[in-house]
Amino acid sequence: MRDRHPLRRGAATAVLALAFAGAMPATPGAQAPTPAPTPASTPAPASAPATERIAIAYVEPDDPAHRRLLNLLRENRLLERVREILAPFRWPHPLRLELKGCDGESNAFYEEATITVCYEYVSDIWHNARSPKRPPLIAREDAFVGPLVDTFLHEAGHAVFDLFKVPVLGREEDAADQFAAYRVLQLSADKKRRLILGAAFGYAGELKVGSPRDLARPRLRIARHTAFADEHGTPAQRLYNLLCVAYGSDKALFAEVVRLGYLPSERADMCEDEYRQIDRAYRQLIAPLLDEGARP
Ligand SMILES: [Zn+2]
Repeated sequence: MRDRHPLRRGAATAVLALAFAGAMPATPGAQAPTPAPTPASTPAPASAPATERIAIAYVEPDDPAHRRLLNLLRENRLLERVREILAPFRWPHPLRLELKGCDGESNAFYEEATITVCYEYVSDIWHNARSPKRPPLIAREDAFVGPLVDTFLHEAGHAVFDLFKVPVLGREEDAADQFAAYRVLQLSADKKRRLILGAAFGYAGELKVGSPRDLARPRLRIARHTAFADEHGTPAQRLYNLLCVAYGSDKALFAEVVRLGYLPSERADMCEDEYRQIDRAYRQLIAPLLDEGARP
């Protein structure tokens, strides 16, 4: 499943290290890249230690401009963090998570038990995280890490549907978004709040949203109606869906998104029911695929 995530393209990357020096503290003891994983045809036994079910790879970039991104991602142990979230699944094949260069294409995709996020896509998110329009309630680190974790988990949703043959009613892209949001919402309060708001800002960046007022302005221009033929929802729909699931899961923790006007109250009224529906589907279809101790 190839996913196109049309964030704006960034240009210069020369200031990466400098800008991030203050934004994201390096994590000591970051692991070296994992060697190429076992071929996908080899099953990962359910009894295998969770970390052996998922291989990770920070692939060396061809583009020297991506090297600093690689170092930054490695220092922040991004793949290790995503692996930890996905490890409780009893994957029928070893899953591979990789960051690599994609010859200029900004994208993220899932294919044959491998989830790939391109450095070009990481670069776009990095530039968006530095936007002066970023609201104070979202830290720059969260605006960078949130969309990346969300993207990996969205692709992991495709992996779950494919490898475990989970039936999907409705659009798979919407289901993958719901899977990603739900998985993040099982984390601790502080973690999930930061990751959800950061991921929401990723979508807001695609919409050039700086304040809730921007969301209410009649700025929607439809270049071609075929834009709506895309298998994904529009960035605006994905933004509202994400905030709605989060608000529906914990109205107190995510009260600000309604109070500040990022989620219209008309939609917010329905979010608890929307979350309950996803929760029910997850418990019935997804939870049995997890180690017993990791089920919600
Ligand atoms: Zn997708």
